[in-house]
Amino acid sequence: MTDLNQTVLQTFTGKPGEKTIIDTLIVGAGQAGVAMSEHLSKLGVPHLVLERNRIAEAWRTGRWDSLVANGPVWHDRFPGLEFDLDPDAFAPKDMVAGYFEAYARKFNAPIRTGVEVTRVVRNADRPGFTVETSAGVIEATRVVTATGPFQRPVIPPIAPQGGNILQIHSAAYRNPQQLPEGGVLVVGAGSSGVQIADELMRAGKPVYLSVGAHDRPPRAYRGRDFCWWLGVLGLWDAEAAQPGKEHVTIAVSGAHGGKTIDFRELANQGMTLVGLTKSFADGVVSFQTDLADNLARGDENYLSLLDAADAYIARNGLDLPEEPEARRVFPEPECVRNPLLELDLAKAGVTSIIWATGYAVDFSWLQVGAFDDKGKPRHQRGVSSEPGVYFLGLPWLSRRGSTFIWGVWHDAKHIADHIATQRTYADYRDAAQRQADADAPVQKVSLQGVN
Ligand SMILES: Cc1cc2nc3c(=O)[nH]c(=O)nc-3n(C[C@H](O)[C@H](O)[C@H](O)COP(=O)(O)OP(=O)(O)OC[C@H]3O[C@@H](n4cnc5c(N)ncnc54)[C@H](O)[C@@H]3O)c2cc1C
Repeated sequence: MTDLNQTVLQTFTGKPGEKTIIDTLIVGAGQAGVAMSEHLSKLGVPHLVLERNRIAEAWRTGRWDSLVANGPVWHDRFPGLEFDLDPDAFAPKDMVAGYFEAYARKFNAPIRTGVEVTRVVRNADRPGFTVETSAGVIEATRVVTATGPFQRPVIPPIAPQGGNILQIHSAAYRNPQQLPEGGVLVVGAGSSGVQIADELMRAGKPVYLSVGAHDRPPRAYRGRDFCWWLGVLGLWDAEAAQPGKEHVTIAVSGAHGGKTIDFRELANQGMTLVGLTKSFADGVVSFQTDLADNLARGDENYLSLLDAADAYIARNGLDLPEEPEARRVFPEPECVRNPLLELDLAKAGVTSIIWATGYAVDFSWLQVGAFDDKGKPRHQRGVSSEPGVYFLGLPWLSRRGSTFIWGVWHDAKHIADHIATQRTYADYRDAAQRQADADAPVQKVSLQGVN
């Protein structure tokens, strides 16, 4: 497979005027693109990966400096390579990037970096797609989009315009030194928002954290990390979010060795929790009255996992240590009992807002009929409604684990199988064709004879 990959890479010269023909083009070389390439390599499918930046760029420059993976390294990895760390440790982000680079090297993945795919259209008169890139044109029979679940940072329209406040998305946050003196409002308390808020508080900044609906698993319970619990309880494999929970974020962190996110504890340490951010007017921000409800629903989620874990242990007769203290609830802090509904930012000394409000996808370059009328990719486990187009790495692509490191590897395997099967159909020759094939060498000989 290594030789095939090298040959393919050599055929893509990227020279103007030269058209490369390839079976499968993978767009993006994050973890999804690398996983896809590994599975296609194993199946002997000629393919090329184009990456506009570097391998695993999101892990290099798309995240804050101190980020470590949210899952321990025994879990957040591909099957074929282990991290050089204690299995229960959480890998720093640069190590995660290095891991995917090393992984790609393992099988000589045919990745060309620094090349952007700018347009994909279906061919009108022949199978496949014409792909325009920043380095020439490619004809591909199939295109796999591995461009990530989190492409375009989203700041909601309520964000105030102008003014003296620094506003950045969590994707642009690097470290506390980057912010001006003064307090910070962090909007959004998923894994990014809560970790950034905690880091800023530890750096001595007054922090307001706007907390919406969230799931809040225990970091670990009865000696097992929550990644293990979600695995054995089948929760990573859930095919769709529970109704009403489609937009619920998950608050979890591997920082400081990995601790359960407890919003009340953060409040006791000095963070001011507020409800969902509602609006801004004349320098005053208003919050919803939902803080206590959001915390209570997060608690419910937390306790439901403990209950499910206890039941699993009892049912399977496992010998795992009891942990009654995990059910201890911190007293309701003042900011929850009497929540702030309005905050005058200048009076409170808030000089920055960090919008940890998530991301959208951008498929403007993929000009094929693979989207519904709302622009959402139409697919079944990544196999698009447009034959030959595949989506990988999207939230809930096949299940809850689909955007995560280990999950994307399994989704890629399914897509690679589908591609290999389609190639078998394409290669099928009926009896007449087989006969013609059988006759062909004779013909050649006779032609040679004539010549
Ligand atoms: C803050 C944060 C922390 C996370 N922590 C974890 C964690 O601990 N564990 C875990 O399992 N998951 C984690 N995730 C989720 C997920 O693992 C990452 O988002 C991961 O980067 C997704 O990988 P991907 O390959 O699907 O997409 P990406 O890493 O975004 O890769 C897509 C690639 O496509 C390239 N690209 C895009 N468009 C084009 C184009 N037109 N032409 C060429 N190239 C293109 C991009 O440059 C990029 O390199 C985290 C996510 C975030 C935001």
